[in-house]
Amino acid sequence: MLYISTRGGISPIPFKDAVMMGLALDGGLLLPQSYPAVSKEQLESWRKLTYPELAYEVISRYVDDIPAAALKSLIHRSYATFSHPEITPLIRRDGVYILELFHGVTLAFKDVALQFLGNLFEYILEERQETLNIIGATSGDTGSAAIHGVRGKKGISIFIMHPLGKTSAVQALQMTSVTDANVHNIAVRGTFDDCQDMVKELFGDLEFKEKYSLGAVNSINWARVLAQVVYYFYAWLRVTDETDVPVSFSVPTGNFGDIFAGYVARRMGLPIETLLLATNENNILTRFINSSDYSLGEVVSTVSPSMDIQVASNFERYLFHLFAENPVRVKDAFTELKEHGRISCSPAEMAQVRTDFCSASIDQESTLQEMRDFYTDTGYLLDPHTAVGVKAALDQLSPDSARICLATAHPAKFSETVEQALGFQAPVPASVQELYGKPTRCEIMDADIHKVREFIVSHIG
Ligand SMILES: *Cc1c(COP(=O)(O)O)cnc(C)c1O
Repeated sequence: MLYISTRGGISPIPFKDAVMMGLALDGGLLLPQSYPAVSKEQLESWRKLTYPELAYEVISRYVDDIPAAALKSLIHRSYATFSHPEITPLIRRDGVYILELFHGVTLAFKDVALQFLGNLFEYILEERQETLNIIGATSGDTGSAAIHGVRGKKGISIFIMHPLGKTSAVQALQMTSVTDANVHNIAVRGTFDDCQDMVKELFGDLEFKEKYSLGAVNSINWARVLAQVVYYFYAWLRVTDETDVPVSFSVPTGNFGDIFAGYVARRMGLPIETLLLATNENNILTRFINSSDYSLGEVVSTVSPSMDIQVASNFERYLFHLFAENPVRVKDAFTELKEHGRISCSPAEMAQVRTDFCSASIDQESTLQEMRDFYTDTGYLLDPHTAVGVKAALDQLSPDSARICLATAHPAKFSETVEQALGFQAPVPASVQELYGKPTRCEIMDADIHKVREFIVSHIG
């Protein structure tokens, strides 16, 4: 399998090069040249597989430059860190299914992809005798999952900036309690945007980037999307073990990575009835799907902060397919976005969008209400991101279908909001309890690019 760019500016490259490239050199996103088809018979033959075995079947279809035994071992190690034997168990509650994606080390679904990516990086770097210095900014979830994905790994150092005092307490501890020599936390006296701007500036200095082999772990890496395709297959197989009604998925969406993985699963032949894209008040994607309006607004802070995003970076992957794989059309769309703050589509394109997705935007009041209602009705505690998806599913999807709601975080990770909605604290898992009192390491710095750069240079492995 070879990989191409949505902007058409690179010649096709193999999987390992696509993983190391991250963002395509022409500024586009990397995609496989085709989606391998999975036949009905093949799908049936996967029923007995464990999660890691299924992951191997799905992932290996996109990887032909890592030997089978090595890829298997890498996948098994990635999911051995999960605390549930099924990795992503499916729970049935009151007319919906909850796909629990939060049994990884940092209690959010990002572990599913970043444990795999960390092992993949280590494998490729060792083979190539290279090193990598990962630099990133986080508002909480991605940074902690990335740190846990690469802690203690050979050939990799990681520098993660977070805004001091502006993440949840658990998120901060999940980062600063990692004291491995290759992990460097920087708490910036400033906002997430200050952190993000400094990362952009460091990557913009091409000489610096080259000299220090800088890399990123944000959600544009194809390997992250690929790892997430697996749980759509897994959940579909579990539901259809017991029923043959149509299967739909509701996906709380920010950067469009998670739901794009569902789109890929469907392109491979998985019979998904509806892909429901759920947003909070940051609803540009809902406006686009429902009223053809892709115009940029201001980012609003909500109780589901990991979805507080206006420009969803993975959306470009879908646009490439929507625009009949024409990179010129993709480039024109992003020029229009830059110059006029919007992207326009033809009526035929919009008709296609509405066959691919449906969408709903759930405001904060309804989110908190759903957390209360769902708990009252079922005794199950939803985190605020998952609640957005559950509310959207109950509003939009037929009760005659199997409505699978992706549970993207454990409620204890957002205990402040659980308390606001329900008046009590979410039970704290042992792994979180242990964080309190652990030694921590974190450099507190001003939002000063010169100081940050100096710190990075003096701590690079
Ligand atoms: C990252 C994240 C999301 C959004 O996922 P995307 O792939 O960015 O659409 C939703 N919920 C939680 C808890 C997250 O951490």
